Amino acid sequence: MRTTKDNLWLDTPYTPGPSCWGDHEVDVAILGAGYTGLAAAYFIKKRFPDRRVVVLESQYVGFGSSGRNSGGVSGMLGHNYRNLKQKHGTEKSAQLQGLMDESFEIVEGLIGEHQIACDYERTGRMVVAETDRQKRLLEEEVKAAQEIGGAAIWLDKTEAHDRFGAVDVKAAVRYPNEGISDPVKFLRGMRRVVELLGVEVYEYSHCTHIDAGRTVKLYTPGGIVRADNIVVATHAYPNPLKLFHYSVLPFYVYNIATEPLSPSQLDALHLPGRENTFTAKNLYWAVRPTADNRLVFIECDALYFYDIGRDYGHWPPAYRRHQALLTEKLPFLRDVRVTHAWGGRIGLTLDFLPSVGCTGKEKNIYYGMGYNGQGLACGQLAGKIIAALMAGEESELTTNMLVNRSLLGIPSALLTYAGSQTYKLYFRWCDKRLD
Ligand SMILES: Cc1cc2nc3c(=O)[nH]c(=O)nc-3n(C[C@H](O)[C@H](O)[C@H](O)COP(=O)(O)OP(=O)(O)OC[C@H]3O[C@@H](n4cnc5c(N)ncnc54)[C@H](O)[C@@H]3O)c2cc1C
Repeated sequence: MRTTKDNLWLDTPYTPGPSCWGDHEVDVAILGAGYTGLAAAYFIKKRFPDRRVVVLESQYVGFGSSGRNSGGVSGMLGHNYRNLKQKHGTEKSAQLQGLMDESFEIVEGLIGEHQIACDYERTGRMVVAETDRQKRLLEEEVKAAQEIGGAAIWLDKTEAHDRFGAVDVKAAVRYPNEGISDPVKFLRGMRRVVELLGVEVYEYSHCTHIDAGRTVKLYTPGGIVRADNIVVATHAYPNPLKLFHYSVLPFYVYNIATEPLSPSQLDALHLPGRENTFTAKNLYWAVRPTADNRLVFIECDALYFYDIGRDYGHWPPAYRRHQALLTEKLPFLRDVRVTHAWGGRIGLTLDFLPSVGCTGKEKNIYYGMGYNGQGLACGQLAGKIIAALMAGEESELTTNMLVNRSLLGIPSALLTYAGSQTYKLYFRWCDKRLD
């Protein structure tokens, strides 16, 4: 049976809070206790200390992707500047990058101000080239970074090797303004922070149905919550309003984690800067150390399943592939024990950009989603934007291009499935050319 013990970050003692029972009248009800839900709770309560804010979570804090990811704190969209610039042009990319820089600052600000003990380290992120073609791609990447004002440092073969000795890398790019964390410690820390501000977090309180209107009614198995405003922070999980049902696509990604490495294994890995380290492919593999020197290894060969209502967060074939790839790339870890294996959903949008906004006839339904695998920082930014929208603020936060934009989608399960498989084949083909 799957338990929280399968997931490295959740494999720690935790006592859930109360569930939602009876009738409640509140100012704001938030669906989902992941990054977005708790960030929205934080920023709303900061702006409106007197308003009653409740969070309803189906399971427990961190049940969703926020408790299942790799803990990389990245202020970047689309994993690299080259993609960003190719898709959105120089000017738009520079604006987007400005927003993402802010999202990164928000995360570091929250951790610092509230002393959130989440093993955060500003290690930077590194993308390494395993082949000459990948190296050429990284050269373009540094050029794109310069054009759109992103921070990226070129490392030639010797410099790259000094920073990551385990693989025969041809070159690398280092993004200094990124870090690694324990995502669940961060999330539980945020829970403590919002509760201290007076937010009520209800766990095991699945919202089964929503009646929209001037007062929105949210039904849970134990009661009804009547709210003036709601925030849908369910991301790649289906929400009762079917908001962005086939526009934010639940792709599944999996992680494995090893036992703590021995000093000789750490020597062989040779990652002195402890960077979150990726390869320069669309369907990359990546590795990051943890505070106790385990490795979390991910192969981003994201899977899309036809039935988006079902949960495929546990997928043993993916774990087996991960372990085979880990020992292929880092053969000195052949005998290392894999202690944890788990997976979760990333919410992909067709243009790889998030969407944050307010909708509904009464303009009282707020949302933030579609982070394309970069939700730790994006979720905080979304929370801040939602609070600013609720306050009716006119600023860069509320008028930027991520706000209230329409999301493309195909309202057909079959076509979405076919489209997603084609996309994957295309990425595979591009990656083959890089090998
Ligand atoms: C394997 C993996 C690795 C990743 N690595 C990174 C990384 O290194 N860095 C990074 O920034 N991002 C990463 N991501 C992406 C990141 O985890 C997500 O973008 C982010 O967690 C989304 O946060 P969220 O709060 O919007 O959604 P979620 O964390 O998914 O939260 C949604 C919550 O809503 C709840 N919910 C759903 N329906 C209801 C309902 N009807 N009633 C009440 N509650 C409901 C769910 O139970 C869930 O807890 C990764 C994701 C995966 C899967």
